[in-house]
Amino acid sequence: MMVRFGVCVFALGACATNPVTGRRELALVSESQEVAMGLEAAKDAARQMGVYPDSGLQSYVQSLGMPMARASERPSLPWSFTVIDDPAVNAFALPGGPIFVTRGILGYMNSEAQLVSVLGHEIGHVTARHSVNQMSKAQLTQGLFVGAMILRPELQRFGDLGGQALGLMFMKFGRDDETQSDDLGFRYMTKASFDPAEMTEMFRTLDRTSGGGERTPEWMSTHPNPGNRVAKTQERIAAWTRPTGPLTVNRDRFLQRIDGMVFGDDPRQGYFTQTVFYHPTLKLRLDFPAGWRTQNQAEQVAAVSAQQDAIMVMTLEGATTPQQAMAKFGAQQGLQMSASSGAAINGLPAASAQFQAQTQQAVIQGWVTFVQLEGTTYRLLAYTDQQRFNQYDRIFRASLSSFQRLTDPAALSVKPARLRLVRLTSGMTLSQFNQQYPSVIPIEQLAVINGVDAATATFPSGAWVKRVVIQ
Ligand SMILES: [Zn+2]
Repeated sequence: MMVRFGVCVFALGACATNPVTGRRELALVSESQEVAMGLEAAKDAARQMGVYPDSGLQSYVQSLGMPMARASERPSLPWSFTVIDDPAVNAFALPGGPIFVTRGILGYMNSEAQLVSVLGHEIGHVTARHSVNQMSKAQLTQGLFVGAMILRPELQRFGDLGGQALGLMFMKFGRDDETQSDDLGFRYMTKASFDPAEMTEMFRTLDRTSGGGERTPEWMSTHPNPGNRVAKTQERIAAWTRPTGPLTVNRDRFLQRIDGMVFGDDPRQGYFTQTVFYHPTLKLRLDFPAGWRTQNQAEQVAAVSAQQDAIMVMTLEGATTPQQAMAKFGAQQGLQMSASSGAAINGLPAASAQFQAQTQQAVIQGWVTFVQLEGTTYRLLAYTDQQRFNQYDRIFRASLSSFQRLTDPAALSVKPARLRLVRLTSGMTLSQFNQQYPSVIPIEQLAVINGVDAATATFPSGAWVKRVVIQ
């Protein structure tokens, strides 16, 4: 999914005018290259992370973002707005116009105007060409990436598993870029007559998520906090000429739109109990080595050893046989295969072999197994540095041979948690609400997703309030 920097599209540098600042600056990427790269990365992002399967919600978000994008400094870019099926609280913009928000961040928003402020901020990264500038720098320092092979994506992710993976999507911008995007987001949302006070609320909510022991949302870690964003937004509001007409907030309309949306991890897309991976939809189970750090993504499931010197990755190979898949794998240049076997694994058709490959950094050695379940073949790769292979060999083989059909009825029928909106018929405090309408999340988190302070929150009669349930 990584943007392929190796393709020689950046041979010559050129100066371009920044659409937002009007300044001339060095750009190694033309607009058509920017668009092409963004579209390619967008396809990868959608495939890797999965698009949230609710076309109504997709077109709703599109309908909020598009008018701001069309009214921006770069109206003719191929803008798009997509909700990603990811529980992380995140939003990102790709070069040339594709903008993504996760269902995770939607669950933390409490009005249309709050969501619009996030979209406006991301539009700002595109109109100000922040990612293009980043790419130019990355391109200058990175040079050509040689060393191809089909193994390459896994090797790249090897180092990424610990931190923010997925390169471009989680590209970090500097504080100045963030401040500029906040400025632009403010400008775009107010131009579209949304109430900028909701931008303050949005930042308050994101601030709350970083307290209280919750996992810091990705949006906070990829978006370095440019000072106090709440205070800065209030300064912008003070300096802004309020229009005479009404401002849009649309709290209820937004909340009704996200009613029923999946909240948190969706176990139907695979989940871990310790290091045992269950996939109820694909009906499979795989035991990764105990103590390893695991990661479940739309396109792959992976685990790294505690010392980060060995990796195991499961991917979908498709409607091919294990033997055909193995023949194709073995035919790759630079691979040496040995110890092949066609023995079944837990009654499932399989093909296994040991491989060695020369990479840029080292010689790696490991096992590859193709195993078929319900007509679909999966590829399991387990490898390490050649020197450590003997140390991991048994662990690899135990894990690879644990692949089996999932038959546990409880695991097969697992359901995700969902947001449910309750319309209050009388006023109550948050804790009264939580007693009357229990949630599967702690009350502190319930406060955050409702955009209120746990200690002092009261809701009036008629208010829509979020809860999280499994049903
Ligand atoms: Zn940003």
